[in-house]
Amino acid sequence: MGTTHGTLTAEDLEALHKECSFTTHQLRKLHVRFLHLDKDNKGYLQLKDLQLIPELSLNPLGARIIHSFFEVKGGPHCKEMNFRQFVDTLAIFQHIKKNTPADERERLYDAKVNFIFKCYDVSYSNTITTDDMNKVLTMMIGNHVSPEQTKAIADKTMIEADVDRDGVISYDEFKKALHSIDLDAKMTIRFAV
Ligand code: CA
Repeated sequence: MGTTHGTLTAEDLEALHKECSFTTHQLRKLHVRFLHLDKDNKGYLQLKDLQLIPELSLNPLGARIIHSFFEVKGGPHCKEMNFRQFVDTLAIFQHIKKNTPADERERLYDAKVNFIFKCYDVSYSNTITTDDMNKVLTMMIGNHVSPEQTKAIADKTMIEADVDRDGVISYDEFKKALHSIDLDAKMTIRFAV
C-alpha cells in the first residue's frame, strides 16, 4: 500500500477503512499525525518519533507504553512501525461502542488488556514476574516512595494477583486482576480523531 510517503490515495483510504474501525475522516487525520511524527520522512516511525508525543513523554509509563506500541503489532524487538501498524495499534484505544456484539466486545477488551500486559512484561517472558512488577512500579511511583516501599507494594500486588501461586502473573491472572477497572474509559485516547 503506497500510503507511507506522504500521499494517501482514495483507494488506500477505502481499503484501510474496510479493515479497521476508523472512519475515512479519522484515517486522514491519523495520517496527518503519522506524517508529522515521521520527521525524517522515513515512511515509518521509530522509538524516537513516538517519544515526541507529549501525552507519552509526560506519562511515567511512557517508555513502556511506547514499547507496547511497537510490540503488539510488530512482535518482540520490533523497531519500526508503518502507517498500517500505527492505525492498528491506535484502534486498541478506541471506545467500545454500546451496541458491539458480545464476542467482538470481548476481543476488543482483550486487545486493551494485552496492550497493558505487554507494558508490564518488561522481561518478555509472557508472564509478569516480581522483578517486572517492581520495575514498572518504580517508573510509576519511584519518585515519591522509597525503593523498599515500592518493593513492598510490588510483592503485595504479586500475591494478590498470582491466584495459582506459581510466583508469576499469567495473562489470565492479569486480566482477572484488571476486571474491576473500567479499561474502556481509562484507555480511550482521542488521538486527533
Ligand atoms: Ca500465577
